[in-house]
Amino acid sequence: MVTGSQQSPTVKGTILSGMRPTGRLHLGNYLGALENWVALQQEYRCIYTVVDIHALTTIESPKDVAEIQPNIHEMVLDWLAAGVDPERCILFVQSQVPEVMTLHTLLSMVTPLGWLLRVPTFKEKVRQMDETEESVNYGLVGYPVLQTADIVLYKADTVPVGQDQLPHLELAREIVRRFNHRFGDTFPEPQAKLTEAPLIVGLDGRQKMSKSLDNHIELAATPEETTRRVLTAFTDPQRVTRDIPGRPEVCNVYSLHKLFSPPDEVGTVYEECTTAARGCVDCKRHLAANINKYLEPLRERRQEYQQRPGYVKEVLEDGGKKARVIAQQTIGEVYEKMGLV
Ligand code: SF4
Repeated sequence: MVTGSQQSPTVKGTILSGMRPTGRLHLGNYLGALENWVALQQEYRCIYTVVDIHALTTIESPKDVAEIQPNIHEMVLDWLAAGVDPERCILFVQSQVPEVMTLHTLLSMVTPLGWLLRVPTFKEKVRQMDETEESVNYGLVGYPVLQTADIVLYKADTVPVGQDQLPHLELAREIVRRFNHRFGDTFPEPQAKLTEAPLIVGLDGRQKMSKSLDNHIELAATPEETTRRVLTAFTDPQRVTRDIPGRPEVCNVYSLHKLFSPPDEVGTVYEECTTAARGCVDCKRHLAANINKYLEPLRERRQEYQQRPGYVKEVLEDGGKKARVIAQQTIGEVYEKMGLV
């Protein structure tokens, strides 16, 4: 049984953050968000959600639909394995608190269409989906309104974001300002908490680590699988034979060493690479061993949670109940403010 959340008496505020149900997470997700989530739970009241309704905006086939539930399970296992603590945080699935859809509709009454069409990520998504602004589904246009509803339904005042997500948060703030101006003070304006996560380049050495590009290393991969994948990593393209000194500064294997190897070993890698004293295969094996060491405690915890059937479901149901209590209070207040009761 999952028990009530423990909050520090000096809690700084309420954080809301979410992830789309993409299944098992990778190193980029860990260093880009999850590690930060674990740290934030020490100081804030944290509400973390699996944003499955957002995932529906880009779903294309029954196969995608069939993957949602297993993906939620696998992803939340990674959250727990990383140290996100259901005793401190509220963890739940977005669609299990239907009040968010009500609030989405109500907030859309104060959101000009022009604001949504100007969002840079909207235009980018339309291009990626090979659609036009006229043919794209309405859910995608309203994505930032649903994001705003996600945040303000729980009166969250702080949202951890990367630099690229700042325009979304600014839009949420504008929607909140408009709502408060028209209907009276109801929601806090959410503040950005900028996360300075390193950009994790994938094994192809060119693009951000991403599952869709298949250039990633899953947190839950076996040590053997991790080694196999690291051995495929691109290195310094000029180092075509072992006797040519390498250039660590252009090699992504070296960037990954800086993240996962102890500082003295990073120094050795640099020295031995630039003097051709080490080959790239040995260098990658060395990196894989250090990534495996780094992930070992997380993988052990994951195994433990995996051996507790029903635990993830229990955590999410428990979190959903807590989230719903807050959501219903907010919707009650919104109905009053908007003259609906
Ligand atoms: S030795 Fe290591 S750091 Fe140098 S180019 Fe090869 S993989 Fe990269």
